Amino acid sequence: ELALTDTDCIFCKIASHEIPSTIVYEDDLVIAFDDLSPQAPVHTLVIPKDHYRDITDGVPAETLAAMTHAIDEVARAKGLTDGFRVITNKGADAGQTVMHFHMHVLGGKPLGEGLL
Ligand code: 5GP
Ligand code: ZN
Repeated sequence: ELALTDTDCIFCKIASHEIPSTIVYEDDLVIAFDDLSPQAPVHTLVIPKDHYRDITDGVPAETLAAMTHAIDEVARAKGLTDGFRVITNKGADAGQTVMHFHMHVLGGKPLGEGLL
């Protein structure tokens, strides 16, 4: 089947290995790689290999399930036994900067009780 790709999208290029990244987990549907500008001791991004703008852009249930599985694999690989936080940004108010759906996995230290 046809892959959904945006030729100008940096995360599409990471998904296709055209741009290098530190890969933490990968399967047919998703890839997880360390954020270039980490906001916590562990800061890994989980993305679908297909291009969707954000969490509301018609992401198939199978892909969402693969992302959930990838989060579990990241937590295992990074030793996040005391927990972690998952964040996804959509749109301007959330400060989304890369318009390819991604989930941030943050952890490796106590993150505090607030959401922000
Ligand atoms: P957003 O603000 O869109 O939710 O988050 C985008 C994230 O992607 C940021 O945390 C930023 O550091 C990260 N990022 C942007 N470009 C690259 C890149 O080329 N490689 C990697 N590994 N991370 C990137
Ligand atoms: Zn993309």
